[in-house]
Amino acid sequence: MSKDYTRLLIVLLIAYIVGLIVGHVFAILFLATLGCLIWQQQKLLQLLEWIRDPDKVEPPETPGVFDELSREIDRYRKRYKKRKKKLSGYLQQFQMATSALPDATVVLDDDDRIQWANRAAVQLLNIHWPQDQHQRITNLIRSPRLIDFLQNSDQEQGQTIEIKSSLDAEVYLSLRIVPYGKKQRLFVARDVTRIQRLVEIRKDFVANVSHELRTPLTVMRGYLDTLLQNREQLPEQWQPSVKAMSDQTNRMENVVNDLLMITRLEELGKVDTNEIVVVPEMVGRIHEEAVALSGDKRHLFEISIDPDLGLRGRNAEIYSAFSNLVFNAVRYTPDGGLIRIRWYADEAGAHFQVSDNGIGIQAKDIPRLTERFYRADQSRSREHGGSGLGLSIVKHVLLRHRAKLHIESVVEQGSTFRCDFPKDVMTSISSDKKEHSGQRI
Ligand code: ADP
Repeated sequence: MSKDYTRLLIVLLIAYIVGLIVGHVFAILFLATLGCLIWQQQKLLQLLEWIRDPDKVEPPETPGVFDELSREIDRYRKRYKKRKKKLSGYLQQFQMATSALPDATVVLDDDDRIQWANRAAVQLLNIHWPQDQHQRITNLIRSPRLIDFLQNSDQEQGQTIEIKSSLDAEVYLSLRIVPYGKKQRLFVARDVTRIQRLVEIRKDFVANVSHELRTPLTVMRGYLDTLLQNREQLPEQWQPSVKAMSDQTNRMENVVNDLLMITRLEELGKVDTNEIVVVPEMVGRIHEEAVALSGDKRHLFEISIDPDLGLRGRNAEIYSAFSNLVFNAVRYTPDGGLIRIRWYADEAGAHFQVSDNGIGIQAKDIPRLTERFYRADQSRSREHGGSGLGLSIVKHVLLRHRAKLHIESVVEQGSTFRCDFPKDVMTSISSDKKEHSGQRI
């Protein structure tokens, strides 16, 4: 800086002396100042051009502020280049790693448009990057389930869906969406054909075995019923054995029927129906059957139902789910216990709730109760002839009606099972009746 001041002072001093000699001090000083300004302006312009195009233009090399400025800019430029090189190295490594992934990975923006895709996306989804950049993913994979998934899925929860590949109908893909950054989403597709095949084999096996068992069981049941009807003709020592055989045949029939029901429920998708379930009436029937099941145990029932609240769904399935919960409450509550049944609606939707003050369930067992054949209380379940499939049926029925099962329980104090239905399957019974009678007229 001091160099610039010294230079300016020297120029002005020389101009002053020349001015004294020629007798025009102010005019010469003015000309010298103007010259300095023009020179500075030129240096500034040179600096600007050099910043814009460092390969073609030389920086101003005059010692002082311009020299320092160009050196400082040069230093920043080199540092920026180094950082850029490092970042593009990282980016290249990341892209190489994700390209090597066997799962198709696609980066989507908040409008579901493709920003980037790896190599596996070509084989699994027929998405080519960069050719398909900025295309909407739903234009390339035309699946209504995918559109629904992108719009409605609980993506934070890591939900997945399985769809058939549009490239090969034999290939099953599991799709998952991972939100990240500012409204960006990672769309991951995995080939699950082998797992899906194993699931199919398991389903077919269970369905076939259950089906094959049905006929011999019916024959056995027929003979055992005849024997029991003519009990008095049987030798006395055989009577308990025939009774035990009949009970066990009953149990096997229950297991086979429940397994067949689960297999059927698994095959069906979400319920799509206009069938109205008149829940208050249904609860009345279930209550009567529960009283019969309770028999000498004389449980106390407390029922609170919204008389106008109905559901859109399958009557037989809802009956099966609700009765399973109520009958379980009867089976797992000691004599004289209290069973509360509630059917109500609130902001979140409609709820069917069964509470008891029975034996309760340990916290570790609760998450596993809806698994097939899982029993928290082995001996009691077998004692009452339970198949261990009741809650599994409840889970499948609710899944088909887009409802969820919520379980709370404390050992020795009791349990609460609640089915939460979304608002759009709720319906008003009186208005539905009016609608139907209106149509008839
Ligand atoms: P199960 O035929 O054995 O009753 P479920 O699938 O209906 O089969 O129930 C699974 C298990 O959950 C039962 O074996 C029992 O241990 C437990 N359970 C279900 N309902 C209740 C309840 N209300 N109170 C206590 N335990 C229950």
